[in-house]
Amino acid sequence: MDTEQKVMTEEVLNKYELVIGLEIHAQLATKTKIFSSDPAFFGAEPNKHTTPVSLGLPGTLPKINEEVVTCAVKLGLATHCKINLVNRFDRKNYFYADLPKGYQITQDELPICQKGFIVINLKDKEEKKIRLNRIHMEEDAGKSMHDKDDRYSLIDLNRAGVPLLEIVSEPDLRSAEEAAAYLSEVRRIVRYLDVCDGNMEEGSLRCDANISVRLKGAAEYGCRCEVKNLNSIRNLQRAVNYEFRRQVQLIESGERIDQNTLNFDAATGVTSVLRSKEMALDYRYFPEPDLPPLHLSQDWVDELRKELPVLPEQRIKRYTSELGLSEYDASLLTNDRSVADFYEELISVSSNYKSAANWVIGPVQSLLNESGKEISELGIPASAIAEIIQLVEEGKVNNSAATQQIFPVLTASPGKQVNEIARELNLFIDTNEDDLDAFIEQAVSKYPDKVVEYNKGKKGVLGLFMGELMKVSGGKIDPKTANKLLISKLESLK
Ligand code: ADP
Ligand code: MG
Repeated sequence: MDTEQKVMTEEVLNKYELVIGLEIHAQLATKTKIFSSDPAFFGAEPNKHTTPVSLGLPGTLPKINEEVVTCAVKLGLATHCKINLVNRFDRKNYFYADLPKGYQITQDELPICQKGFIVINLKDKEEKKIRLNRIHMEEDAGKSMHDKDDRYSLIDLNRAGVPLLEIVSEPDLRSAEEAAAYLSEVRRIVRYLDVCDGNMEEGSLRCDANISVRLKGAAEYGCRCEVKNLNSIRNLQRAVNYEFRRQVQLIESGERIDQNTLNFDAATGVTSVLRSKEMALDYRYFPEPDLPPLHLSQDWVDELRKELPVLPEQRIKRYTSELGLSEYDASLLTNDRSVADFYEELISVSSNYKSAANWVIGPVQSLLNESGKEISELGIPASAIAEIIQLVEEGKVNNSAATQQIFPVLTASPGKQVNEIARELNLFIDTNEDDLDAFIEQAVSKYPDKVVEYNKGKKGVLGLFMGELMKVSGGKIDPKTANKLLISKLESLK
């Protein structure tokens, strides 16, 4: 294939639009595999989790793991799907060394979930619903390694039979950004539901992208290519953008797009043909004879619905409409469920929603990033943050002292009383107006030229004076009062 992409004018590219549909595989965080009692966790020594069912030995029989069905229904409910109370497994037949049975057990005609949607939000754009075609359960294959030995390919069957949910979107995505937003929303939802850790690098979340282009305004979709195994959101975007140019270029030079399966090389950023249409496999799907159709009761599904956590989409709505937060802050707060839960605990005792958000997005989130810990591991009670917020609000401690001095001590000794920390560090504001006047006098006389600048209209120099005041007072002044007095002092010097 010609890997050199010719320069195309914006004008040419602008005539076309992308059409993308994603097939996402989420590996479930269940204890055991989908059809056997083998452990399903990642990272064991090769070929340790291999009872006869995983090895596909003749005469073995699969037995469905209820936990997998629970995960599928939860994800289906969270994404507004119709749950098929009767659904069925099928065999997808193909030969490969990492598939000892010679077929994969999946769901073809009657999947467990159908016709849902996921909402995505792009900066400065209206939210958009991406329709789901289906979510179905299936087993993973083993893993082939072709680069571990000079002469042989090695096979690890630990992964054979690990449960997957495949989430198939309709071709509703129209740009690399939309595709990325959709994939990250899927990742956020599976994490919220605790069904999958969402780790793309380790392969617990994998993405195949079906990509086509068409002239803007065209009624029909173009012919698509499927790019396999994209292992990061960034690589998904790169592959989509590469394919856009490649396909437009082919069409512009009068050629046609073949419905091929492609590979994406992350090192070069280029796609190449893995399988052509002529090599397309016929999987000869048929109903799995060793498993009866699955019958779910509506009561059980209703129970699961009650147990669902409040999802990011709903939390963002509430934070923006009821609490008055910006869309941006709300989305930062809801990225991680435990962080969002912490925020909600905090605002149950502090009614300053905006300050609470700033504390969680700012100092708390930085600490999480630096330490790599979960919020529960920090051990900081939400009530302690609420107390700090109150001290600042009442003008008893200034904000920079709170973030730079109280918070680090609290982090080191999470059980400590906030008042006690403030007292020990001597942070309570006890400066009276006489002291404050003296500090202001000192600061103003230090920078006479800045006083002139201020009175010529350069209001920005206030920051310099405030900084000086904080320094000379040791941070023990109330910024609001100080600001007021400082301004009147400066104006009196006009
Ligand atoms: P198949 O049965 O061949 O796998 P599906 O109809 O199940 O095909 O579609 C697989 C994926 O391809 C879905 O995510 C769907 O949204 C997407 N898709 C289908 N047609 C197109 C197209 N023309 N352009 C981009 N994506 C498409
Ligand atoms: Mg399909």
